[in-house]
Amino acid sequence: MSNPQNINSYRRKFMQGIGVTAAAATLAPGMLLREVQASNKEGYVTDKVRWGMLIDTNKLVEGGQEVVNACKKEHGWGAEAHSNERQKASWVRKVTVTEKTTGYVNQLPVMCQHCETAPCVDVCPTGASMKRADGIVLVNKHICIGCRYCMMACPYKARSFVHESLFDQHADSPRGKGTVESCTMCVHRVDEGKEPACVEASNGAIVFGDLNDPNSNISQKLKAEDGKQIRADLGLNTGVRYQGI
Ligand code: SF4
Repeated sequence: MSNPQNINSYRRKFMQGIGVTAAAATLAPGMLLREVQASNKEGYVTDKVRWGMLIDTNKLVEGGQEVVNACKKEHGWGAEAHSNERQKASWVRKVTVTEKTTGYVNQLPVMCQHCETAPCVDVCPTGASMKRADGIVLVNKHICIGCRYCMMACPYKARSFVHESLFDQHADSPRGKGTVESCTMCVHRVDEGKEPACVEASNGAIVFGDLNDPNSNISQKLKAEDGKQIRADLGLNTGVRYQGI
């Protein structure tokens, strides 16, 4: 598996070959992007923790729209937040699924599933797509060259590309024109000991916690009630699990 802290020789050669400096993303003036290894409360990120979310679709009052709304508000993406209607960022989307044989309709929010073996990380030629030790999958916008291989590799269609100039950015969640982005599991909040914004807005429908801790609320719920992975057949061991699907 790719080491998020090191760009291997193949990737270095690739970057040299295509002239990564010229292709570097355009960042909004004055915006400082989050360090690859952000610090948590204790001052470091450790693989003793693996952050995850368990989403009970039966408890979602708006079928996941509340998750989309909370994410847009927290991170400032989405056409509504900008006068430029062409901006089509999509960190999380509401998906409607109909069971053909019964007609049963279910709705769920789909965001980056924070895979243990993340295809986006494997295909990224520069190491910009990376997984932190605590399982959160991120894009390092400093070295993203906008090739969008990761968008093609993601089986959840969970990433989007910033085409347009950005304005009114949120200091805690900086974005970059010409880069790919996706759900960060609200890493800026997690590193401060808080829950992701969508979890707070979900009225208990989403449980956030440490999948490695057998005594955490999320682990206890998974043990007692189980939780499904979308496309479990891919063997990606996702950090996001669902109930009611
Ligand atoms: S965890 Fe944060 S970034 Fe991810 S969908 Fe929820 S609000 Fe958006």
